[in-house]
Amino acid sequence: MSGPASFVEVAVPIPVERTFTYALGDLQLPEPGTRVLVPFRRGERIGWVLGPASGEGIDGIRPVLDVLDDEPSAPPELLRLCRWIAGYYLAPLGITLRSALPSVLSDASRDYVSLADSTSAVGDGAELTPREARLLELLAGRDGPQRVRTLRKALDSGSIWPEIRNLEGRGVLRHETVPPRDAGVLTRKVVRLVRWLSSLTEREESFGRAYRQKEAYELLEAAGGSLELAHLTGRAGFSRSVIRGLEEKEIARVEDEEVIRDPFAGRDPGEAPKHRPTPAQQEALEEILAGLEQEKPVPFLLHGVTGSGKTLVYIELLREVVLRRGMGAIVLVPEISLTPQTVSRFRAHFGDEVAVLHSGLSDGERYDAWRQLRNGEKRIAVGARSAIFAPLPRLGAVVVDEEHDGSYKQSETPRYHARDVAVVRATRSGAVCVLGSATPALESWANATKRKFTLLSLPDRVAGGALPTVGVVDLRSVRRNLEGGRGAASQRTAARADDGSPPAGGTVLSPALVDAVRTRMASSEQVILLLNRRGYSSFVQCRECGDVRTCRNCSVSLTFHRTRGRLVCHHCGHEEPAPDRCPRCGSDDLSFRGLGTEQVERIVAETFPGRRIARMDVDTTSGKWSHHEILGRVERGEVDILLGTQMIAKGLDFPRVTLVGVINADVGLHLPDFRASERTFQLLSQVAGRAGRGVLGGEVLIQTSVPEHYAVRAAVAHDYAAFAERELKERRVPAYPPHVRLVNVVVSSPDPELAAQGAEGAVRWLHGRKEVGLGEGVELVGPAPSPIERLHGRWRWHFLLRSPSSRALGTAARAVASGYRPRGGDVRLVVDRDPTALL
Ligand code: ADP
Ligand code: ZN
Ligand code: ZN
Repeated sequence: MSGPASFVEVAVPIPVERTFTYALGDLQLPEPGTRVLVPFRRGERIGWVLGPASGEGIDGIRPVLDVLDDEPSAPPELLRLCRWIAGYYLAPLGITLRSALPSVLSDASRDYVSLADSTSAVGDGAELTPREARLLELLAGRDGPQRVRTLRKALDSGSIWPEIRNLEGRGVLRHETVPPRDAGVLTRKVVRLVRWLSSLTEREESFGRAYRQKEAYELLEAAGGSLELAHLTGRAGFSRSVIRGLEEKEIARVEDEEVIRDPFAGRDPGEAPKHRPTPAQQEALEEILAGLEQEKPVPFLLHGVTGSGKTLVYIELLREVVLRRGMGAIVLVPEISLTPQTVSRFRAHFGDEVAVLHSGLSDGERYDAWRQLRNGEKRIAVGARSAIFAPLPRLGAVVVDEEHDGSYKQSETPRYHARDVAVVRATRSGAVCVLGSATPALESWANATKRKFTLLSLPDRVAGGALPTVGVVDLRSVRRNLEGGRGAASQRTAARADDGSPPAGGTVLSPALVDAVRTRMASSEQVILLLNRRGYSSFVQCRECGDVRTCRNCSVSLTFHRTRGRLVCHHCGHEEPAPDRCPRCGSDDLSFRGLGTEQVERIVAETFPGRRIARMDVDTTSGKWSHHEILGRVERGEVDILLGTQMIAKGLDFPRVTLVGVINADVGLHLPDFRASERTFQLLSQVAGRAGRGVLGGEVLIQTSVPEHYAVRAAVAHDYAAFAERELKERRVPAYPPHVRLVNVVVSSPDPELAAQGAEGAVRWLHGRKEVGLGEGVELVGPAPSPIERLHGRWRWHFLLRSPSSRALGTAARAVASGYRPRGGDVRLVVDRDPTALL
């Protein structure tokens, strides 16, 4: 058979691991990556064309309804990358494409139709079908563009696309796909419109007694002939009818101007500091630049201690790639709101070349940025995880800053790791890839050891600055001293800070830490205090019966939030009022235990009266710009003590911070997860790295009950290599990454029995298939209840697949992901490849 293709294969974003075949009808075969509208079940979906299909042996193939792109919205390189992600992470291709592209491109509900400008009826005299007539009637009866979805509901049946396309073809209807509007205005293009009022002529006599019109006109003239409409009707206080009056007299005209929205635009990125690279920076840079000359450069691991000037290396690299060679570059940062300084540095150097992709963008803004990258208006994408999908036509470099950061792993389908995707994308496009960190992930370290990555080191802080000295406060002896001094009641006082004021911190702030803070305050320096646990108390326990309040959806204790007077689940968000009495036995002797940032804030305020304290955690940073606001105050010296969770450990560079105190290093150290020690080491090293970045030098005090733990000791000594060596040993038996690869399979259900049966069934199923290769290189561990047994109302069981061979592991994981169907009611199976946590 030859001739034009009559069927296409389409990836539809639904959680099913297959693609679908549609008939093309009269349509030309679109290029792969082009979006099409297709009928799906009883509705319509947007999918992506993958290529021609045979259609043989398939009954009832339905037609493609519409081709939505002029050029593929997923360019070939991105389509290939998504295919790799879908295959490796065992995710449906349609869902992968959807998450790689701006959301406005995959939402069929954003199709609108409106009556065409001519209010006259159908001009060509052709008959209307009853459905078409009804559709026009509906539109005539409503104001402005209507959602296709709403109209379909009103017509209460099937697709209305044939009618829409027919009427559109006859010029009666207009159809458009638009992102949701911030202001609710619909426009053909995805840009914000700013309305301007511009003067047309000088005809003062025509104002008569319309004094307000005259005033508005004069204001307009004084402003040089045009003004933003919002200014006139807002600040200046002219009514709409005044403006309309000017328009009717043809004295002025309202015009729309397209403005690409950029929330960073109004923010001054500051001056670009002109540093000359140090010899160490220069050496690293030259190696990377040499990589640019190679066809398939090996990725680089840039291991530089905190304050070693990694950012300057990235900037110099981009200067070459973007400014000299005219190619594109992607810079990934962990969470953009937490790293405003890093982002500002890129903006200061590259100005308008930079598109900042952050979570605060509206869908429309994100789409604007995407288009600008796609058409070459901007050549640098800076953003969190998903920026790895930036549609840069000629990619020259990919930088992953703080490559060890846990936020690079996506916790929903597709469960990709952006660092690993970065390596794959860069390698395939022949781009240079630089992974930077002071505390590289052990996987990356192992890759460097095996020469899969080229290791580059910046062993010292820039300009001869020293790493801060790190001291340890043993909380066990602090507690003993306190008990010795004040009797047994003191233990209680420290834990229940709300029943009186603890003396100068109690066991929360040790005497050594209090002294150190006082000294810094006396010389007007700044202090950072870290406690990686938010809320006031992490659990509430009845002293009578021992009952701990747990979440009704999850098997975790509820955290007391004092300002709101509520108990909150940090996993699912469930909230309830804080009890006065034990719900189980009625006793009013409740103890609020487990220290959180909210409580520390109070104790710090009591211990250091008059000091300006800022707290930064999830609870204080819900607003779009609240991170910037808090960090801005610290930068301007308006804050003496910055207190917070791991948020404050990332990338901040404040030269007046001379002391970092860790309230309790042990939070997280004893979690039942193989990365607990690594996470603790990284957190301690990173937060310590915030101290002494200026000429004033600095020190760090770590409070801990386990000063002998190797993660604490290595952080104290700034000795990454020692930590890595020990941790690699710890992960030999039982074997964990990087010695082996892991897949975590979680089976969950609202019914505990079904969850257990589902997991057991999956394991039996795997054992029963020879081709899966269990026992021959792939080991299965479990099943067992997950460490967090219940989450979001679902009971969870899991088992692990592990293997030194990625390929063998992939085969086994693919088998269970696409072959095994748990029985019973609501049972879900999640396959997480290269998991970052097993909780
Ligand atoms: P890192 O990311 O490695 O922790 P940064 O890139 O934030 O370190 O750099 C630390 C500080 O040193 C910044 O304030 C930066 O402006 C400054 N810096 C970097 N390189 C140089 C240089 N070559 N000369 C002088 N100062 C530098
Ligand atoms: Zn009780
Ligand atoms: Zn919960």
